[in-house]
Amino acid sequence: MRKPIQLKLESSSSPLINNTECRLISEINSIKSDSIDYWIIQESDQDTIKELIHAIRRHPAPAVYLRAIVLLSNQNDSLKLYVDAQRDTNIFDQTTSDDLSSKFEALNQWIEKIPNPLEHSDINISLKALRLIASRDTEITPIMTTQAHSGYDYPAISTMFEKDDSALFDTLAFLEDQRLLSSRFVTKTHLCGQCNSAFINFKETCPDCKSENIKADELIHHFKCAYTGEFSEFVFGDELICPKCDRRLHHIGVDYDKPSSIFRCGNCANSFQEPEISSTCFSCGRSSKPENLTLQTINAFSATSIGHNAAIYGLESLFSNILETELNLFTHTAFKDFIKIEVSRTERYKITNSTFVIAQFTNLESLYVSLGKRAEEVFSELSAIFKSILRQSDIISARNESVFFMILTETDTAQAKIAIDRLTSGVTQLFENNLDYSPKILTRIEKIDGQLDVEKSLELLLENDVH
Ligand SMILES: [Zn+2]
Ligand SMILES: [Zn+2]
Ligand SMILES: [Zn+2]
Repeated sequence: MRKPIQLKLESSSSPLINNTECRLISEINSIKSDSIDYWIIQESDQDTIKELIHAIRRHPAPAVYLRAIVLLSNQNDSLKLYVDAQRDTNIFDQTTSDDLSSKFEALNQWIEKIPNPLEHSDINISLKALRLIASRDTEITPIMTTQAHSGYDYPAISTMFEKDDSALFDTLAFLEDQRLLSSRFVTKTHLCGQCNSAFINFKETCPDCKSENIKADELIHHFKCAYTGEFSEFVFGDELICPKCDRRLHHIGVDYDKPSSIFRCGNCANSFQEPEISSTCFSCGRSSKPENLTLQTINAFSATSIGHNAAIYGLESLFSNILETELNLFTHTAFKDFIKIEVSRTERYKITNSTFVIAQFTNLESLYVSLGKRAEEVFSELSAIFKSILRQSDIISARNESVFFMILTETDTAQAKIAIDRLTSGVTQLFENNLDYSPKILTRIEKIDGQLDVEKSLELLLENDVH
């Protein structure tokens, strides 16, 4: 059974955030984060609580930054949105602690699926954000706040980011673009076209001299004599009297109405019906017309099925991981050992034939994007095709994301060509059926003997591609 770990700063009065952060990080590093259930923060000072949350969420190791944070506090703390749970300090006992442990059990199991969650360090902020969202398996929703420059914040993940919140919005847009996150419309907001600030002062101005010193007055239309004039012309003490026909006005809608308003400029005395609207940014001071403001859509986000997969295995190795579940994919080092064994085996017996094959699929990465949700399904069909042409004794390895090395044992180059033709036509058909897209597949087939240099073969294959 793992335990919760309580983080507490000895001197929370230190104004030097960086120093505090350093101390905290060394404190976090000294804890075996793979042996704990969740972090506990018990502090009264709001800034200290924030520092502790930042130090955890900005830590590079998944076992640290993904771990749940529980805030212990007596008041209904506004910072509770930034952590995974809040509990009352007074009633925090063993039962509460055990309840929290089981609450976060699924999350902790998720973290364990990441290869090396303790030593591994995530420096890619997009991957970190994706992992935090996918590990909670929930939708992250925006809140309206004056604390954020753009007026909106995603408390579930924003503590990972440095002060500048444009990185937060850029990251979410990138992940959505890659179809790793899907979005749900929440609202729209106007932002300064220059600095993306949400804090904008809208003003009505005189269309002639641009002065803000304008006053609105209502127009009155007297039905009896058809006179129309400004409200102020009709006011005599407590009564409204028509300045043209001197009759008293009684009931709006019966003997008069107010058809519209009129504005008068205190600067140039111009009168007009439609003032101009101008906007001034509180942050950078830029004035512009409202149509030049940025209209930003504010969405809620959740991980797609492909996003869930990429969150565990990383953004780069999605395809090879799907293949790995279907095929026995060997590492490159192991593959080179197999080549050596095959070379010495064929050299010694002279009668066996084995063939080395390289297959390169171009634009495989862009396929994740165009396939979106169906990527996992299509890639597992793809591995089924591989499986159908490879025999148990054949060896396959991914050189990188798009290049595959294979050893077809007891197969001569002519037989290998037939197999590889079947592979390419199967793959082509799969992509054409699903995507209206013909993949470019390059292959190279070579007899395995003492002359074989796999890296040189790859070079030759890629060179051919250029010409
Ligand atoms: Zn004016
Ligand atoms: Zn009148
Ligand atoms: Zn601005």
